[in-house]
Amino acid sequence: MKIKVLDTTLRDGEQTPGVSLTGNEKLRIASKLDEIGVNFIEAGSAVTSAGEREAIKNISAQGFNARILSFSRPIFKDIDYCLYCDVDDVNLVVPTSDLHINEKLKTTREKLLDLSNNAIDYCKDHGLGVELSAEDASRSDLDFLEKVFSVGIETGADRICFCDTVGVLSPSISYDIFSRLSKLNAPISVHCHNDFGLAVANTIAALKGGAKEFHSTINGIGERAGNASFEELVSSIKILFADEFETDIKMDELYSASKLAARLTGVYLQPNKAVVGENAFAHESGIHSDGVIKNAETYEPMTPELVGHKRKFIVGKHVGTKGLNSKLLELGITVNDEQLKEIFKDVKSLADMGKTVSDVDLQAIADNVLNIDYEKRIKLVDLNIVSGNSVMPTASVKLDIDGKEIVEADVGIGPVDAAINAVNKGISEFEGIEFVEYHVDAITGGTDAIIDVIVKLKKGDKVLSARSTRPDIINASVEAYISGINRLIE
Ligand code: MN
Repeated sequence: MKIKVLDTTLRDGEQTPGVSLTGNEKLRIASKLDEIGVNFIEAGSAVTSAGEREAIKNISAQGFNARILSFSRPIFKDIDYCLYCDVDDVNLVVPTSDLHINEKLKTTREKLLDLSNNAIDYCKDHGLGVELSAEDASRSDLDFLEKVFSVGIETGADRICFCDTVGVLSPSISYDIFSRLSKLNAPISVHCHNDFGLAVANTIAALKGGAKEFHSTINGIGERAGNASFEELVSSIKILFADEFETDIKMDELYSASKLAARLTGVYLQPNKAVVGENAFAHESGIHSDGVIKNAETYEPMTPELVGHKRKFIVGKHVGTKGLNSKLLELGITVNDEQLKEIFKDVKSLADMGKTVSDVDLQAIADNVLNIDYEKRIKLVDLNIVSGNSVMPTASVKLDIDGKEIVEADVGIGPVDAAINAVNKGISEFEGIEFVEYHVDAITGGTDAIIDVIVKLKKGDKVLSARSTRPDIINASVEAYISGINRLIE
């Protein structure tokens, strides 16, 4: 059974608290979605703002293979805005639970049914396709819901969609409901939220019950706990449910799509996120790494290549010599057995002190063991910060670059930004260094926490991450940044 995918990263995903995308960012994500074979793209909600409308209109104008949708309430004004955006279909969202009908809309079931049908009529009269979505369907009276759908289909809805708006479905109930509603005269779709971590399971159960389409978002972003995760659904269908379902999605683009969405939305993933998290194919334990090196199937349910990800061996407390050697080879370092043992010993003692060993740390240990005398070209001599609630954050740095003293100062939106800007001025002779990622963790709880800063830097093809762990976020950031740059300009 071919399952169609509606991606709502640009609508429900953009409703993630704190996320707002520019028109250009929306277009980049939409292009990626189209390229990887998504069947429907919900590009936004046309009524939201003039900027949102221009973004949707622009996406509609690209001639993508995917059908483009806008969210719409059953209100003519909303639909007129959808028409302005030249979308193919509207996602016509009609609340069907008594809670929403009575409390939110302050209306009645009968009036709601009229509203819904008038809106469908209006859409069809104006050449729009209609996906009729029942909001809060999972808390609606099933007989009434069925009536809204069947009358809606008679009026002209092309597809119907059951929305588990607050994520309260469970898999067996989902299966039963979809077994019933899939007998109606139009393809039914499923839209699940992840409030109890069941969005993907409930979506799969809906497919088993007869749903022909699902809604999902990249990285599972969306309101509150988010939506069903696109990459988890697509890959579980491919690996676990291949004898029942298939999608049009190009699997090997899943990781890059995830990265793009994370970067543009600013919502970064937990490392253990299924399929696309940084640890999804990472192995640290000695036994696991050893097994994976002999035969990856021992500890991997699918290959990282399948989803465009990479296998990683993490060097830490549990690392074995084989995993460590693979990691060294990855860094372009070849060692003999004696040297490997020596590096292994140093890594273990660092790990026993509670540190995970970054690429930069490992390189330094290896350099030391291999007697590579490596002189850091840039040294931080002095760093001063002025910040507060009524001054522009300002930083001055004194750097020693190849023995030459350089003093620079700059401002920024915060003290870290000011410090990094000042360093950047100081190192302007080294061109082409790109700041790819900046990640901060407070390792312990309080305001006196140890801060772990990881920066990812790029120069040409060379990408590396550098880390610093200190009680002071500004020092940690500058130290990680300079140590990364030193590696890039060796
Ligand atoms: Mn939703």
